Amino acid sequence: MHIDFQFVVTLVFLHSSGKLFQQYVEDDYVKIEGFGLIYIPLNQKDLRVEFYRGLLGALTTLASNNNLRVEKLVILPSSFQGNPRSMQQNYQDAMAMVRKFGWPDLFVTSACNPLWPEILNAMQGRERPENRPDIVVRVFKINLPELLDYLIKRKAFGCVTSYIYVIEFQKRGLPHCHILLTLDSSSKIRTKNDIDKFVSAELPNINVNRRLFEIVTKCMVHGPCGIINPNAPCMKDGECCKQFPKAFREETEENVNIYPVYKRRCIEPVRVGKHYIDNRWISSFNPWLFKKYNAHINVEVCASVKSVEYLYKYVYKGRDATSITLKNDDSVNHDEILNFLDGRYVSAPEAMWRLSEFSMSDKSHTVIRLAVHLPEQQTIFLKEGQENEAVERASIKDTTLTAWFKLNLVDEEAHEYYYADIRQCYVFDKPSTK
Ligand SMILES: [Zn+2]
Repeated sequence: MHIDFQFVVTLVFLHSSGKLFQQYVEDDYVKIEGFGLIYIPLNQKDLRVEFYRGLLGALTTLASNNNLRVEKLVILPSSFQGNPRSMQQNYQDAMAMVRKFGWPDLFVTSACNPLWPEILNAMQGRERPENRPDIVVRVFKINLPELLDYLIKRKAFGCVTSYIYVIEFQKRGLPHCHILLTLDSSSKIRTKNDIDKFVSAELPNINVNRRLFEIVTKCMVHGPCGIINPNAPCMKDGECCKQFPKAFREETEENVNIYPVYKRRCIEPVRVGKHYIDNRWISSFNPWLFKKYNAHINVEVCASVKSVEYLYKYVYKGRDATSITLKNDDSVNHDEILNFLDGRYVSAPEAMWRLSEFSMSDKSHTVIRLAVHLPEQQTIFLKEGQENEAVERASIKDTTLTAWFKLNLVDEEAHEYYYADIRQCYVFDKPSTK
């Protein structure tokens, strides 16, 4: 095998460039994403024009009500991964799974630990994990299927009927994964004893389990915040936004708002670093996952149906961004690409994850989106200058909705199924439906 010497030297030089390598990765990703986004404004007419007619109508009404004119309408289609439109569609797909399999039982968040031996052993010389986002994301990517396998195939919490997961990046850049698991009826978590079996929010006994004690004090102690550290990032209006320190509690209480309130018994404070802490400062965790993966793995039991919408909206919320526009002209502009790019924060690990084309989310089941429309108002695909052909094509092809109506006319057995369930027993004939 021939390896280009110059290429190897450049790579070694890049990898050992510290923060400059982070900058290099981010710049490269932003450039590649930018090239991808150039295509979209130039091909707006090829997008599903009719589909966005409602949006154009709303903008025109807004403009005419305020005596303005619509100047620019640029659509960012849902096929562009991670944009708000694709997140909204993923959320709706997840809600379709809730309809079929019930609400999720467990909300697991697993974060990358930059001190994993796989990462540290790959560091050369004076390299540090934050300056090698390529290694950090690859190790996280390798460990994720192992965790999913343990949760789903090896039934760590019981038999899983469906799951979704979404990858996110923390402010300091490390990847983490939100996983929502739905268990079958025999594995449902019903009593406070079940909850205590899976989730703990107390310091482990150092004499019984020293390793677990060390991991928990390293990863699961919140803060310090409050009076000790009023400038902590979690402090909002003089209070901790995560409600730490929690109150002492002798027993777990199920179903308080979204999550159960876990037991945190009163103990003698233990010195961790510069501070003394007790059970009020411990985030909830699962002892076996913790010991096994040596990572920040937060496990919450979803106790109420109220949590469903919140959790799915939370995991599909998309990235943090902020922007301010100052303008004094008389036009209305709707540019989704600009909105997506402006004020968006991309960390080096996220840039590396995207450059490696790793998936940002996945789910256990495929969700097929069915058409819903009024008579003669179905979505049609058209190109400028080919409107007649598009209308002709639409007139001979059924949508999934019109095909379902036709099926009900001729097949009495189909009357037993709702529209959303029809795919369980019937197949849409692709050439004649769209
Ligand atoms: Zn706090």
